[in-house]
Amino acid sequence: MPDLIIAAAAAPTLAVRGDNRRFPIHRIYCVGRNFAEHAREMGSEIDRGSPVFFMKPADAVLPGGGEQPFPSATSDLHHEVELVVALGTSANGEVATDQAMALVLGYALGLDLTRRDLQAKAKAKGLPWDTAKGFDRSAPISELVPAAQFGALASQRLTLSVNGNLRQQAPLSDMVWSVPEIIAELSRLYELRAGDLIFMGTPAGVAALQAGDRYHASIDDLLHLEGHFTSR
Ligand code: MN
Repeated sequence: MPDLIIAAAAAPTLAVRGDNRRFPIHRIYCVGRNFAEHAREMGSEIDRGSPVFFMKPADAVLPGGGEQPFPSATSDLHHEVELVVALGTSANGEVATDQAMALVLGYALGLDLTRRDLQAKAKAKGLPWDTAKGFDRSAPISELVPAAQFGALASQRLTLSVNGNLRQQAPLSDMVWSVPEIIAELSRLYELRAGDLIFMGTPAGVAALQAGDRYHASIDDLLHLEGHFTSR
């Protein structure tokens, strides 16, 4: 270890089901517009030629969800429930679609919390989305389930309820870009590493959250994530 001039921040990690060891997070990649109905509700159409990518900092993760203060600087905080893919193996350059699943260690369930008002302003001006997407605790994430326990990606249902009311629900098979396709695309743009997470995009039904709201997200009986927002 080099001698550090200030204390290093602790590396963010996720729990792994059935394992005492934790998963250290390297980067967080996110896919935009990966469910056709959600793209439409946001006023756009899917372009099969080019997935939309953005990033969150690794320390935006809130491991396991739970209580969090309502975020600053927004009056339109939206929930986006998403499948999260965890890479356990680093890529050696570009990855072919038919080799991509070999990099996957497991899956989690996450919320891509979004300051929709700031995103709308950025979109209108053609500006970056960082302040809308990459803020502190903008990524509550469940524990990881190893891929073998999760089973093959098929029609498992992604759901999100707020205060007991169902807001979002869709099968994973509704994703426009599959997990291996997204890994292959990302590998052309970035050096993918063990520890990377990929948020796979959200189905229709995104809506605003308020201080006091409680959410419960799930993928069938495989993964659950719960949390709530306190007043600032
Ligand atoms: Mn999203």
